[in-house]
Amino acid sequence: MLSNGLEGANLTAKNTPKEILRILRSSFSPSSWMSLTKDPFRILVKTVLSQATTDRNAAAAFRKLSARFRITPKSLAKADVREIEKAIVIAGLHRNKSRAIKDISRKVLEQFDGSMGFIYSTQFEEARKALLDLPGVGPKTADVVLLFCTDTPTIPIDTHVKRVSKRLGLVPPNASYETIRRALQSLYTPKDYLSVHLMLISLGREYCRARKLLCIRCPLSKLCPSRQMED
Ligand code: SF4
Repeated sequence: MLSNGLEGANLTAKNTPKEILRILRSSFSPSSWMSLTKDPFRILVKTVLSQATTDRNAAAAFRKLSARFRITPKSLAKADVREIEKAIVIAGLHRNKSRAIKDISRKVLEQFDGSMGFIYSTQFEEARKALLDLPGVGPKTADVVLLFCTDTPTIPIDTHVKRVSKRLGLVPPNASYETIRRALQSLYTPKDYLSVHLMLISLGREYCRARKLLCIRCPLSKLCPSRQMED
C-alpha cells in the first residue's frame, strides 16, 4: 500500500488542514501570472523563467521573449540562443535558462511534432513521465504544467510550499518532494489543490520566510507548532 506521507507529521486537532486553508483564503487572494494561459508550452517556458527569481522579473522576461519570438517550439528551437539570452536577461541565470528553453523546444518539436497535446491524451503518470523526460524539467515544473493546463489533481511543491508545510506540521520534517506532494494531496480534495499551492506560496513569501519569519503577524500563528515568540 502506498504511504500518504503523513507518518511523522505534527497534526493536532487545531491545525487541521481544513482550518489552515480557511484562514489562508481569508488572508490572501493570490493570483498567478501562470494562470494567464492554458497553453502548456507557454506554461513550460514561464516555469523555466520563474526559477530562482521573482514573478515580476519572470513576467518581464516572458514579455520581452514574446516580443522577440513567437512562443512556440518551432520558433524557439530555431532561435539563436544568444538572442533568447538577451531577451530574458532580467530573469537571471539567463544562459542556463535560454539553453533550457531552446533544448526543450527542440525536443518537443522532434519528439512530439511541436505539440504538447500528449498531456491531454495520456494518463497523469504517463504525461508526467513524458514531461520529466524533457531537458531540464523536474517534478515541480511537470506538476505546474499539469495543474495549470489540465486541472490534473497534483500539487507542485516549490521551495515555499516545502518550507511552510513542514513548519505547519502538515508533513514530516525530512519529507522529500514526492512525500510532501502525496501528503498534501491526501489532506485536501483535488478541487483545492491549486488553491493550496498558491496560498502556501503566498504565506511563504509574506510571513513564513526562510529567514526573518513574521510569526507574530502571521494569520496562522495561533495554530502553528513552529511559531516563534518574537519576529
Ligand atoms: S507562525 Fe511562523 S512558522 Fe508558523 S506558519 Fe506562521 S510564519 Fe511560519
